[in-house]
Amino acid sequence: MSKTFFITGGAGFIGSAVIRELIHNTDNHVVNVDKLTYAGNLESLVSVADSERYTFAQADICDAPAMQQLFEQHQPDVVMHLAAESHVDRSIDGPAAFIQTNVVGTAVLLEAARAYWKSLQQQEPAKAEAFRFHHISTDEVYGDLDGTDELFTEETSYAPSSPYSASKASSDHLVRSWQRTYGLPTLVTNCSNNYGPYHFPEKLIPLMILNALAGKPLPVYGDGQQIRDWLYVEDHARALIKVATEGEIGETYNIGGHNEQTNLHVVETICEILDELVPYKVKGSSHDSPLTTHDSHKQLITFVTDRPGHDVRYAIDASKIERELGWTPEETFETGLRKTVEWYLANETWWKRVQDGSYQRLGTNT
Ligand code: NAD
Repeated sequence: MSKTFFITGGAGFIGSAVIRELIHNTDNHVVNVDKLTYAGNLESLVSVADSERYTFAQADICDAPAMQQLFEQHQPDVVMHLAAESHVDRSIDGPAAFIQTNVVGTAVLLEAARAYWKSLQQQEPAKAEAFRFHHISTDEVYGDLDGTDELFTEETSYAPSSPYSASKASSDHLVRSWQRTYGLPTLVTNCSNNYGPYHFPEKLIPLMILNALAGKPLPVYGDGQQIRDWLYVEDHARALIKVATEGEIGETYNIGGHNEQTNLHVVETICEILDELVPYKVKGSSHDSPLTTHDSHKQLITFVTDRPGHDVRYAIDASKIERELGWTPEETFETGLRKTVEWYLANETWWKRVQDGSYQRLGTNT
């Protein structure tokens, strides 16, 4: 039976992938609740905007009356909470917004969901029984695996390093406490680094693709040996919908791609794909001879001062979600990265409008 999904942060990178998946490949309804910060982009949702199963509400999750009103109006079956400040570098420059949205906003949303769920218990017990609140979090809450070959499991202790990961850790604790204390039917997922289409150009992979295309330096932090476990965003979206609809109340599921790569390897692989698709032209040269390594986009790689508190290694053990819910990623790192580079080559209008700021003009309250 068709359900109504209340998605916070649906105009962001992962939220928009979840909404496209729900509208294109299921018969569910979606209410997208997003404040439209710099990271929110309705142009990532053009393919669903005309669906009668899709509604957008511009609202701040910290606004308690607005959240209460949206729950009453839309009577959701499932909440998927993705709204957050998400960029680690921005959290180092200005942590306050991260505490506000990620911690205070999550608490406000939990309270609005709890009031709504309690009213359902009186009026529609079957709907209350089926209600789920799914909180989407990150593997960065677990801290750093430097110097070990361990993986993060659902039992790994929290040890966040940045203001971003500390604020996400706080929100995870709030969600679990609302389940333990009030019985709110919650689930938590912790996922590794995502990449793919519609990724905001300040993040590593799109930044490298677009800088390389523009012949600009490719800034790599420190020695580039930081290891991340990369997951294609559409694989993450499918995993999230599985957890929200089939996961066990009170459980946590780690989600990852089995793709541990150093940042330097990621950047070099992007360069190799680009060398094949858009051969690098050395400035001032007009020769058509085959590429030499000297002519590769790799020569744009520049090492820059490392980020403070930079974690060296993250790696996820995703065996629980594979075993219990039967989810596995469809893309390998090679297939996913190639698709991503091809997407940026084919969707210049989308990223140019992000770069020049015009994407923010679409933010009307419709
Ligand atoms: P994003 O920054 O691309 O999008 C965040 C969205 O939230 C934006 O549309 C923004 O407008 C909205 N938003 C921000 N503050 C808001 C507020 N106060 N009220 C309402 N909306 C608000 O983020 P993303 O990369 O899509 O990440 C989504 C979630 O997944 C986050 O919670 C993040 O912590 C988590 N996560 C991300 C990754 C990743 O690699 N990107 C990995 C694991 C987990």
